[in-house]
Amino acid sequence: MTLRPRASGLSDVGVIRSHNEDCFEIDPELQIFVVADGMGGHSHGEIASRIAVEAIRDVVAKTADDDATLPFELDPRLGRHSNRLKAAIRIAHDRVLKAIRQDASLHGMGTTVVGMLLDRDSAAIAHVGDSRCYRLRGGKLELLTQDHTWVNEQVVAGFLSEEQARVHPLKNVVTRALGGDSQVDVDVREWQVAPGDVFLLCSDGLTTMLTDQDILERLRTTSQLEEVCGRLVRDANTRGGYDNVSVVLIRVEGSSDGGPDDDETAALPAAR
Ligand code: CA
Repeated sequence: MTLRPRASGLSDVGVIRSHNEDCFEIDPELQIFVVADGMGGHSHGEIASRIAVEAIRDVVAKTADDDATLPFELDPRLGRHSNRLKAAIRIAHDRVLKAIRQDASLHGMGTTVVGMLLDRDSAAIAHVGDSRCYRLRGGKLELLTQDHTWVNEQVVAGFLSEEQARVHPLKNVVTRALGGDSQVDVDVREWQVAPGDVFLLCSDGLTTMLTDQDILERLRTTSQLEEVCGRLVRDANTRGGYDNVSVVLIRVEGSSDGGPDDDETAALPAAR
């Protein structure tokens, strides 16, 4: 069985904001998918999220060859794809910091990031901040990432309920971001991938407007990824669209080994 991703993404400024500081990347050939949500005054969030997304794609591309050396020491507990993704995010962080050092007016910019790098039947999923990854499998939606936010820390510690966290005035305070402290702590985990799995990467502009149940209902409506992306964004905007909203959907499709379609290099193009 050969697994291949089919993906679609959409980003929208929302109803209130004047700039879209989110950014996303879909590359089915490199099997990398990213959503970043920038922050900072003026339009600097846009710069931070774009630097991050481009850096991640760049490092993933440069390390695609199995012989390519990684810029950081390998973590032996993780597969090579997870090490690549983690290294890519750390380099993205360094590049955001470098841009700030080179131009003092960019001081204070930063970005969250969530990325997925596939390798055969394993997905490395890594994140920093409150951009999320969900997986739809067997009709069930599961959140695979834990927000790096002050409110989520309170939920984990038992001081706030999830519902209280959703409406808390400090719900937007992230505790980790690229471009913040000199070192960045990246969470990365590996997940087994099966045909039919659908992964959703999204910025908090989606999840502050729609509950997990809302998202599940929309994912179930059709198998057309483009249509689902459109519906998620439109409904976030209908509910108020307080923030930029970005979604990337990846469906893993399987084909039997030896079939005429069984060519790993012929990854389906992204429907953007
Ligand atoms: Ca946001």
